[in-house]
Amino acid sequence: MKKNDILDLTVCEIVRVVRKRELSASDILEAYIASAEKTDTEVNAYITKTYDLARAQARRADERIADGDVPVLCGVPFAVKDNFAVSGVPMTCASEILRGFVPPYSAAAYERAAEAGGLLLGKTNLDEFAMGSSCEKSVFGATKNPLDRKKSPGGSSGGSAAAVAIPSAAWALASDTGGSARQPAAFCGVCAVKPTYGAVPRYGLTEFASSLDTVCTITRDVRDSAYVLETLVGRDCRDMTSLDLAGTKYTEGIEDGVKGLKIALVNGWEDFVDDAAVKCVKRTADVLRKLGADIVTVDVPCLGEAVEIYLTVSAAEASSNLARYDGIRYGKKADGESVAEIMKGTRSGGFGDEVKRRILTGTYVLSSVLTGDYYRRIKAAQAEVCRRIYDLFGKIDILLMPTTAGAAFDIGSFNENPTDMYGSDRFTVIGNLTGCPAISLPAGGDGHMPVGVMLMGDRRSEPMLYRAAFAAEAELKEFVKGETGNE
Ligand code: GLN
Repeated sequence: MKKNDILDLTVCEIVRVVRKRELSASDILEAYIASAEKTDTEVNAYITKTYDLARAQARRADERIADGDVPVLCGVPFAVKDNFAVSGVPMTCASEILRGFVPPYSAAAYERAAEAGGLLLGKTNLDEFAMGSSCEKSVFGATKNPLDRKKSPGGSSGGSAAAVAIPSAAWALASDTGGSARQPAAFCGVCAVKPTYGAVPRYGLTEFASSLDTVCTITRDVRDSAYVLETLVGRDCRDMTSLDLAGTKYTEGIEDGVKGLKIALVNGWEDFVDDAAVKCVKRTADVLRKLGADIVTVDVPCLGEAVEIYLTVSAAEASSNLARYDGIRYGKKADGESVAEIMKGTRSGGFGDEVKRRILTGTYVLSSVLTGDYYRRIKAAQAEVCRRIYDLFGKIDILLMPTTAGAAFDIGSFNENPTDMYGSDRFTVIGNLTGCPAISLPAGGDGHMPVGVMLMGDRRSEPMLYRAAFAAEAELKEFVKGETGNE
């Protein structure tokens, strides 16, 4: 098998060829390292490459294969967003303030992938502390969209999505607090799952807004998504919010189709997206109807306020979570005569503008100037959103929405008005506010770049979402091919 053919294999196919001993883990790894070396000077998907570690893991994987022990991700090269800890590997969160920080512990999700035989290629770029939608707000420079280098790969998990799209990783770990895995996956033409809150333990994921942060995967297709998620879910005593889902088989029944499922479009959704997104969502609805789903429309009035609620809640949590970066405990430390001066210097010089904006907003929201009432009221509004969405899922099975308002925007589009970018999360934040799972998959393109659609269901409804996404994907593939990369 030639190097380029190796790169054509999905995760499930890699495992199959490794199990049949047609290729060794080291063969697969070297093809991916060559691909990363060829593309990354331009695309900038990686912050840190860990080839030595990956080669050691590949040797171990090949030994296990020789002993007849072939675990589920054996020989599969993967990447990890640089806000997850991997013991002994620098973790920067794309921030100056963590430059030089090497965690002595590993994230639970990474541990599970590595124990399952995965090979870590490196840590991927992101918007600083996962705050952003473009992967430009990184102290290591912007990641470029591999399909058109003038375009943003989306964010904050832009490095992970770009790596999977190239491919310079067979799959990648990402995080999603308001859309950070799904939006970049849509911009890069790949698949992302934001599982139910707590499905994958957050231990070792750097906190942004802990009540919304969700460990996600970015994969090339829907089957890979289900397959990798199976390995990652399950309780971990180091994360009290993690769910007891170990052993769930998301790949089982994935081919069972959508007959009888009630799938709803949101009234008025077209008003917020461009023509390509309208076309792709309508097409997906048509495909699902043809396959036997019942397509209906519903009102989701709270969708309008969801972004404001998200921004307030996430900023409040961020201001509290990021208080720990004080120059005393982690990474960079500024000079100063007093503790106060050290902290001030470290935080002023160490955080970028977007992170400071969120900390200031969050501190204000929580401050006594507002007598704490503002935060309580916003949490009440969030509870009302949850009530309405859970009620809705008593009547329908799945919400079908655009992932984003259109295809990838140009790098630099929001330089003048950075807060305009917040609007790009309109359809994604609702999944985080409610803890509900959602899958984004490519559904076509604007003639040049891919466009994604999103399927969202009630908590723990991943098996049903995978069935629907898998069925739709098979029908949508040709459109994606025909409507992307033509200019
Ligand atoms: N784009 C959103 C934000 O900037 C979401 C980020 C995320 O999901 N981490 O807040």
